[in-house]
Amino acid sequence: MERTLVLLKPDALQRDLVGEIISRLERKGLKIVGLKMMQLSEELLNEHYSHLVGRPFFPEVKSFMQQTPVIALCLEGTECVDTVRLLCGITKAREAAPGTIRGEFAMSVQANLIHCSDSLETAKAEVPRFFQPEELFSYDDILERYIYNTSERE
Ligand code: UDP
Ligand code: MG
Repeated sequence: MERTLVLLKPDALQRDLVGEIISRLERKGLKIVGLKMMQLSEELLNEHYSHLVGRPFFPEVKSFMQQTPVIALCLEGTECVDTVRLLCGITKAREAAPGTIRGEFAMSVQANLIHCSDSLETAKAEVPRFFQPEELFSYDDILERYIYNTSERE
């Protein structure tokens, strides 16, 4: 099964939306295989947001992401990278679709509550960037056979 990286950004912590967001991801049927709080370093942010280096807003994004610790999650599920992107909504939160996390709870392009990997290839780079192997867990999810049919669980 795919794994994807989620970060709950400083605005999620400040606005007391951590539980709400994790609850939505959990209730969808996604499996939490890693979860921790961390303060992001300059170095990690340069790597994580390397596609934004040189953009005028990049320094502001970095300082925003360092305002408080973030919550990092690794989620597992069938084709979960795309699923989590859909649940998050588009970057510009005030135009994100109703029902999405950004669409329901945010107004800003920058303070849009959540990061999630944008492709399977990105997820494969991002998960090990934020989690050591021993911080990721494999365990039986007793509800899995109700969440997926047999062929979807392979
Ligand atoms: N961002 C911003 N201004 C922009 C574009 C992006 O402040 O014009 C911030 C915003 O927090 C966004 C993050 O940089 O979530 C990463 O940008 P990306 O284009 O990867 O968007 P995402 O994948 O988070 O939707
Ligand atoms: Mg992105």
